[in-house]
Amino acid sequence: MPELPEVETTRRGLAPRVRKRRIAALVIYERRLRWPVARSLSRKVAGLRILRIERRGKYLLLRLESGTLLLHLGMSGNLRAVRADTARLPHDHFDLVLDSGIALRFNDPRRFGSLLYTRGDAHAHPLLAHLGPEPLTRAFDADYLWGITRRRRVAIKQLLMNSHLVVGVGNIYANEALFRARVRPQRPARTLSRTEAARLVRGVRAVLQQAIRAGGTTLRDYRGADGAPGYFRQRLYVYERGGKPCRRCGTPVRAVTQGQRSSYYCPACQR
Ligand SMILES: [Zn+2]
Repeated sequence: MPELPEVETTRRGLAPRVRKRRIAALVIYERRLRWPVARSLSRKVAGLRILRIERRGKYLLLRLESGTLLLHLGMSGNLRAVRADTARLPHDHFDLVLDSGIALRFNDPRRFGSLLYTRGDAHAHPLLAHLGPEPLTRAFDADYLWGITRRRRVAIKQLLMNSHLVVGVGNIYANEALFRARVRPQRPARTLSRTEAARLVRGVRAVLQQAIRAGGTTLRDYRGADGAPGYFRQRLYVYERGGKPCRRCGTPVRAVTQGQRSSYYCPACQR
């Protein structure tokens, strides 16, 4: 599933292609995405200039001279820049054709992605309004994480993956950040020390930044804006390495299930 680094990689790849371009057409081949794409949308955005592309959590925000397109890649989506006359593949659901002759083409086999338009303040949109802080901004610091872990019994890994508290820390990155912080994923959040909270903030930032530099992780079917696969996988310490030796100390990595997701940790390195 595309996670924050993949979405950020997509944003960075597309930014120079979309900036100051006009939308020549929005051509929709399949309206039945997570939410049906409004029939009026093509007419609404045709001719508008794109000011820039931003990211909030796992949403891409195409800021138009009037309003914002909100795009989510869902479980299996990708958005790539192609020449508008490139033959379509199965599961290509729409083309946002630019006046440069490039199209942003959305492909999504499982159709959990979405394309929405909002005229008002995009950050006040119901899908964005309740999101927690961005993990790579100053709002997510040791004081913040320390504060939200007090009195919470929930496992620290589940807290990290709660997008109301911090956005964009998916399963891979939560596992890897906890390894770096030397904290076991099952620990009740409120048992973290101040020092551990600070280490965990650094771990989350480091693992996301490394994944962004590597061009996104994921793994099975993710491809970036230019169709290149991510190269982060070789650098994972624990994720999907159950039974294999810890890369730091050699102890076999343990795999457990938490809230229907797989967690991995080193019983020697993590407490
Ligand atoms: Zn270890």
